[in-house]
Amino acid sequence: MKYISTRGGTEPQEFCDILLGGLAPDGGLYLPDVYPQVADHLDDWRSLSYAELAFQILSLYATDIPAEDLRTICDKTYTAQTYRWSRDPAKAADIVPLTSLEPGFHLLELSNGPTLAFKDMAMQLLGNLFEYVLERRKETINILGATSGDTGSAAEYAMRGKHNVRVFMLSPEGKMSSFQRAQMYSLQDANIFNIAVRGMFDDAQDIVKAVSNDADFKAKYKIGAVNSINWARVMAQVVYYFKGYFEATRSNREEVAFAVPSGNFGNICAGHIARMMGLPVARLVLATNENDVLDEFFRTGIYRPRTTAETRVTSSPSMDISKASNFERFIFDLVGRDAAIVRQLWRQVDRGGSFSLADGPFAARLMSYGFASGRSSHADRLATIRDVWERYGQMIDTHTADGVKVAREHRVAGVPMIVLETAQPVKFAETIREALGREPARPVELEGIEDLPQKVEVVDAAVNQVKDIIVRHC
Ligand SMILES: *Cc1c(COP(=O)(O)O)cnc(C)c1O
Repeated sequence: MKYISTRGGTEPQEFCDILLGGLAPDGGLYLPDVYPQVADHLDDWRSLSYAELAFQILSLYATDIPAEDLRTICDKTYTAQTYRWSRDPAKAADIVPLTSLEPGFHLLELSNGPTLAFKDMAMQLLGNLFEYVLERRKETINILGATSGDTGSAAEYAMRGKHNVRVFMLSPEGKMSSFQRAQMYSLQDANIFNIAVRGMFDDAQDIVKAVSNDADFKAKYKIGAVNSINWARVMAQVVYYFKGYFEATRSNREEVAFAVPSGNFGNICAGHIARMMGLPVARLVLATNENDVLDEFFRTGIYRPRTTAETRVTSSPSMDISKASNFERFIFDLVGRDAAIVRQLWRQVDRGGSFSLADGPFAARLMSYGFASGRSSHADRLATIRDVWERYGQMIDTHTADGVKVAREHRVAGVPMIVLETAQPVKFAETIREALGREPARPVELEGIEDLPQKVEVVDAAVNQVKDIIVRHC
């Protein structure tokens, strides 16, 4: 399998060559040059364990890793021990257990990993892939990132203790919940460095960009990233669409729908790819919160990224985005993989503009993909959390509530609806208290983590202070 850029300006690459990078050098995103067609494999795959299914799917994409090595990596990544915080502990071995709320309406639990958000599903694999490839090449990497919560902690828990990786993670001082702070800052591993920036998330993000744009510094200190545009993260997420499908159906002639709480379009992009590979998906239902740039696109065909000033802080904060960084992958497919068209559309986007595919030649293909969308507000979120609690006795987090709310608007008789559960309620306890007047359940092992000693360095929003920390530790 070779990887090409959505902007068409790079030579085809191998999997391991794009694994450690971010954007392609021409500014595009990497995608496989074809999607493997797997409809004939579904019968064989239906009864596989999660790790074995992951191996089967990943071996179609990571073709430059020997099969026995890839199998070892999958076995080590997808264990019941790592994904142990399922609703029903007896189902932990499923890795992504399916909880039925009512016949034909299910939650797929993707947030049972170490940081209680679905980002662990891909990030844990990335940690093991990085370690493997770096080991083989006798190289090291220093991952630099900025986080407002879920991504940073998932990266740290995936990379902790790996001897050829260091993580420098910037977060806005005092802006995360005490639980999120405790999750990250209580890590005492020698290769994990938490840096709290006196400022907002955007200040932290700007510092990461400035350091990455300093080509000399970047090369000398081997600066890398694990952001949501990383192809391997999208690839890892394809697996649970297959697993969810098998859990919710009896035969491979049935179709299902997935509802996906969306921000950067990474999670649902994996669903699109699973469908392109031949998984019988009737509908992909995209849910946004008040930051509805993607809902707008699927309703109108117009993609209009917002400014930072237009972006609202909401109670499903991991979906608070102004533009969707993975969206370019989807548009590349939608325009028939014509890189010239993608280049032209993103020339407009990069100038702060928008584009419309509403009445052009691609509108029919967009229809044929079977997307639907909707948005949710804070009031919707509270009502949905309350309703799911009262009706089914299940507690869901704010992002999953957005998914359930929009999923209900798009149910089709006879087609099972699978809502992807992207985080556990304890991560967003304040809104749970507001909705239910009670504390969310918390895994016993995480009782009192707020009281553990914390390791974090506080700096001003100044590029040099962050560079100094990196230099000091390398
Ligand atoms: C990251 C995240 C999302 C959004 O996922 P994308 O892949 O960016 O669309 C939704 N919910 C939670 C809890 C998240 O952490």
